[in-house]
Amino acid sequence: MSGETDWAANPLIITVAPTGAEVTREQNPAVPYTPSEIAEETVAAHGAGASIVHLHVREPDGTPSADPALFKETIGQIRDRCDVITMVTTGGAVGMSTAERAAGLDGDPEMAGIEVGSINYGDDVFITSASETRELSAAIRERGVTPEVEAFEVSHVESAFRFQAEGILEDPIRINAVLGVPGGLGATIRNLSSMAAAIPPGTRWSVTAIGRAQRRILAAAILFGASGVRVGLEDNVYLEKGRLAVSNAELVAQIRELAEGLGRTVATPTEARRLLQLSPAVDR
Ligand code: ZN
Repeated sequence: MSGETDWAANPLIITVAPTGAEVTREQNPAVPYTPSEIAEETVAAHGAGASIVHLHVREPDGTPSADPALFKETIGQIRDRCDVITMVTTGGAVGMSTAERAAGLDGDPEMAGIEVGSINYGDDVFITSASETRELSAAIRERGVTPEVEAFEVSHVESAFRFQAEGILEDPIRINAVLGVPGGLGATIRNLSSMAAAIPPGTRWSVTAIGRAQRRILAAAILFGASGVRVGLEDNVYLEKGRLAVSNAELVAQIRELAEGLGRTVATPTEARRLLQLSPAVDR
């Protein structure tokens, strides 16, 4: 498994996912909706140790949005205030068209998530056909954005490398293993270990765990030598059982403390850019 033997050379890359498409203020009043709120939460999370922000945007009433202007405004505000790596979703929300899913690319992010397969998502079906992956990947590449494969299943890891062999995804592949979506791979240590085993050595990979098992799964991910972990209100609104997180920064601080307690240092955005082989921020 990647990174297991050279822990010191692989500071942990923490991604914060402050908003998402599904979680609401009814579930946690700290969920940011507007560009200023998202920027404020991101800057604080960066201060707490996040080196990447994974962004969705919302209409003022909290509805998931595909408005490029909202992405531009949000990323602009973040970039004015800190050097965190900006990543947009191209998963969007269930049912969005391909064009809507690509809207975040208009915000000129450094990275973009990309789906390479479909899953059931609760009662919905989250569809990404191969042709849609090809289309989104082309849009990502045209803009000089770096993709991160969102793998909800072990088969998605295999698909990523099939798309690479086809020339659809460039080398190196970066993977975010997402566990705990109802309908996808559950958030268990055994499933994490299947994911880890499917990812070729040397690949940069991070782990997202949705829901209550988050901290346990991310602790295991750190020990498995994952390059990064993702936290934030998109994935989990609780800091601990029965206690809502007051902010995204609080969730970042908690995972940072856990990593450091295990002897793993945390990457700065500059270190994360180098580890993930992104273009330097000054070029953007
Ligand atoms: Zn997301």
